[in-house]
Amino acid sequence: MILGYETIINKIIDTTGLSRQDIEVKINQKLKDLQDLISREGAAHIIANELNVKLFDNLNRSLKVNQVEAGLNSVNLIAKVINIYEIKTFHKENRQGRIGSILVGDETGAIRLVVWDEKLIELIKDIKQGDILKINNSYSKQNNNGFKELHLGSKSQIIINPENETIQEVKINSSSNRKQINDVNENEFVELFGTIVQVFEPKYYNSCNVCNKKLMQEGELFKCPEHGNVPPKKVPILNIFFDDGTGNIRAVLFRDQAEKLILNKTNFEEIKKEVLGKQLILKGKINKNELFNRLEIVVNNIEEPKPEIILAEMQK
Ligand SMILES: [Zn+2]
Repeated sequence: MILGYETIINKIIDTTGLSRQDIEVKINQKLKDLQDLISREGAAHIIANELNVKLFDNLNRSLKVNQVEAGLNSVNLIAKVINIYEIKTFHKENRQGRIGSILVGDETGAIRLVVWDEKLIELIKDIKQGDILKINNSYSKQNNNGFKELHLGSKSQIIINPENETIQEVKINSSSNRKQINDVNENEFVELFGTIVQVFEPKYYNSCNVCNKKLMQEGELFKCPEHGNVPPKKVPILNIFFDDGTGNIRAVLFRDQAEKLILNKTNFEEIKKEVLGKQLILKGKINKNELFNRLEIVVNNIEEPKPEIILAEMQK
C-alpha cells in the first residue's frame, strides 16, 4: 500500500494536532539525518511512526467473521483458535505441498483458515487452542460445502496473541438457516432438527487424504484428480432417512460425519441399534437427486442437540 506525501501529512495533522509547519520541520530534519537516502514520503512515514500515527488504520480495518464474504482480498481478522487440524501433504505434478487448517471464531461466528504458505505452516506448531490470532492480508473463498474460508498465502501474516486483543465468547453455531423439511429448496444450505427413522448399510470408498475426493485406482496406485498419487484413506458413506414431523428426507453422510454415527462399529445390526431414533441437528446442502426426482441433504455437519434444545423444539 502506497500513501502519498499529502495523505501522510494530513493524517499526522489529524491525529496529533501539530501544525503542517512543525511536521515539515521534523521531516526535513529526518531527511538531513539520513543524508537524503530516503524519499520525502519515506521520511514522512518515519515521522508518523515516531509520533504513533497509525497510517493504515482505516485501510486495514479488521473484519468480524460474519462480515467475511467470498472473494475479498486483504482480509484482516482477529479470532480465537477453536481447533487445529492435522497438516496435510499433497503431491501434484512433481510438486509437493502442505496445507494447514485452523478453525477460529469470534463473537459473530466461526471460520476455517486454510494455510498454504510454508513459513506460516511452520508457525502452526506454536499455536494452541484458545490463542488469539491476528490474521493479516488473507483472502476469502467459498468452499464446496458453501462455507466461507480464509486462505493464507505468502503475503499473509499470522500474529499469535497480539497485545491488547481479546475475544469474548466465541459463537460457533448459527441457527439462522434452520428449516423444516417440508420447506427446503434445492441448492439451499440448511440446518434441520429431527430424528433418524431409517438407516442403510454403510458403503466404503478410497478417498484423497487432502481433499477427500474419491480416488481412481490405477494398478497399485490411487490417484486424486487434483492431488495426484496419494495414500488412500478408506472412508464410509452412510445414508439415512431423517424426519422432523413435517416430512422426511434422505440424508447422505460422508467420512467424518458418517463416522460420528457409526463409531467404529462394523456390524450393521449394531450400527442400526446405535443410530435409529437418534435426535440430531443436521447441517448441509439440499441437492436434487435427478434419478429419483427427490431432494436429499448432503450433510457437512451433525450435532447432538443439548437437552434444552430438544425441549424447546418439542414445544414449538
Ligand atoms: Zn485430492
